[in-house]
Amino acid sequence: MTLLPKVPGLKLEDTFIDADTVSLTLVSTALPVACPVCGHRTARLHSHYGRTVADLPWSGRRVRFSLDVRKFRCPEEGCPRRIFTERLPDLVESYARKTVRLHEVLELVGFALGGEAGSRLIRRLGMAASPSTLLHYIGRAATASYPNPHIIGVDDFSLRRGQTYATIIVDLERHEPIELLPDREAETLADWLRANPGIEIIARDRYRPYIEGASAGAPEAVQVADRFHILKNLYNAVERAVERHRHALRESEEDPARQEEIPVPEPSREGGHPGWGHRSDPGQRDKRLKLYERVVELRERGLYVEDIAGQVGLSQGTVVRWLNADGFPERKRPKKKKPSPVAPYAEYLERRWRERCINMSRLWREIKEMGYEGSYDAVADHLR
Ligand SMILES: [Zn+2]
Repeated sequence: MTLLPKVPGLKLEDTFIDADTVSLTLVSTALPVACPVCGHRTARLHSHYGRTVADLPWSGRRVRFSLDVRKFRCPEEGCPRRIFTERLPDLVESYARKTVRLHEVLELVGFALGGEAGSRLIRRLGMAASPSTLLHYIGRAATASYPNPHIIGVDDFSLRRGQTYATIIVDLERHEPIELLPDREAETLADWLRANPGIEIIARDRYRPYIEGASAGAPEAVQVADRFHILKNLYNAVERAVERHRHALRESEEDPARQEEIPVPEPSREGGHPGWGHRSDPGQRDKRLKLYERVVELRERGLYVEDIAGQVGLSQGTVVRWLNADGFPERKRPKKKKPSPVAPYAEYLERRWRERCINMSRLWREIKEMGYEGSYDAVADHLR
């Protein structure tokens, strides 16, 4: 009978069909069967019992299997399981009330549509599963489907635009997120690590609760400050150092004879250093740096962005930006505008425009003949 699950020895004994149900009585006849504990095979029947499970519908009718399940005595002397129930793993799991293939369909629908919509569709198709059952299947599939991780990455992410933080755990061998923790407390991470033993390497940033949580929850694991954050910190530090010595670097460039005595300017106390301040003076920068350090410190102590913003008197947006910058964000030096390639022809173009020559491509051709090498768009932009 090919419509039935392909289980060796499964026999159809009886069929009953009414307006909305197909009931099939099935018996398993395979012999001998193996004890699930010691593996010894036996044909020593102990008893039978009946079990009903739901299967995939037939033409809109619900299908019920009435299974005649057998119990056997284990022949092995020392086996702790003296009597065992035969397993039919391709048909139905132990204690399940649905066949494996029905379960698979329900799980797929659950993943595609979620609980409510999935449950409605399933009823239309002649099956039954409540929304919460579908969600339960999804949850079980999600937790059962990944192997124990060995190398993980831990990082935080913002749930509500920088106001509430949660933690994401990524399996770095499979490059897949495997867990979301509701906050970024040391204790939460430690609990998760204790529940998932066997982790050998934890990559993390330098956020203090993560260091503490990792040490408490997986003391034997190696902690690695992840490369991204280290490189970013290094980059920022180098940039700051270069910025600080910009004046000296320029002087040495201009006068090679002075290379021996490059003055090392004091970073913050030297007021009015020509190469130092951007558009703000060094005192301003100092204040801003202090503020930045305070923001980082408060965050490391676990405060939320809105509390930090309140304490230091900055907007939440600025606090978020600073925290994401991962290093003191220097004020941007206003960019020197590159002279437009049209500039040398500006006067000519203006004159022609006044002469009412307003055909842009014609003007473009005219200045091209005069030596202009830029694009048409630049000319059009200029004229506009
Ligand atoms: Zn046994």
